[in-house]
Amino acid sequence: MKLIFSFILTVLIFCKNDITEIKLNYNRTTDNQVWSNGIDVLTIKASGKEIQKVLTDETGTAAINKAMINKHGAVDVFLTSIGVEELYLTTIDNAAIDLYEVNIPRHYRFKFDRAVCPKCNKVDKIYKAVYGENQVVTIEVTEGGDTIYSNISGRKYYMGTCVTNALNPLWYCDRDKIQF
Ligand SMILES: [Zn+2]
Repeated sequence: MKLIFSFILTVLIFCKNDITEIKLNYNRTTDNQVWSNGIDVLTIKASGKEIQKVLTDETGTAAINKAMINKHGAVDVFLTSIGVEELYLTTIDNAAIDLYEVNIPRHYRFKFDRAVCPKCNKVDKIYKAVYGENQVVTIEVTEGGDTIYSNISGRKYYMGTCVTNALNPLWYCDRDKIQF
């Protein structure tokens, strides 16, 4: 009997060591009551490509496999709950760290009048996100004759949706192709 117990315990410890947890710390105020107090959807990407979606539990905690982090070297975590445009949260590039905590709402450093990108820590490719019906798309034709559509016009990045709530991204980094 004692032998069986120790075997089960060993398996549980192994499983726990095998994952990295992501914990969303919500700071709720009277201004942002739109947030649901439950399950959130996180999308994990590597080099811009979706790897998997994971759900948080009701404490805001989700888990991903360390093997996946090691395989890709670094993965980006986005909040993609219903009603939220893809919001960049953090980059996980160290599988030795067991817990990544993310405070929500996000707070960014500012330089001049732009938010500093939380991924590349630069401000030169930052565009302000614009929501609304007047979607602007810039069309460029390359020398090779290819047509490129861009959501960037002037210093703005047009989101192409009217959906807004307190969690929707306010900025876009064209270097990392992330909204934050
Ligand atoms: Zn960036």
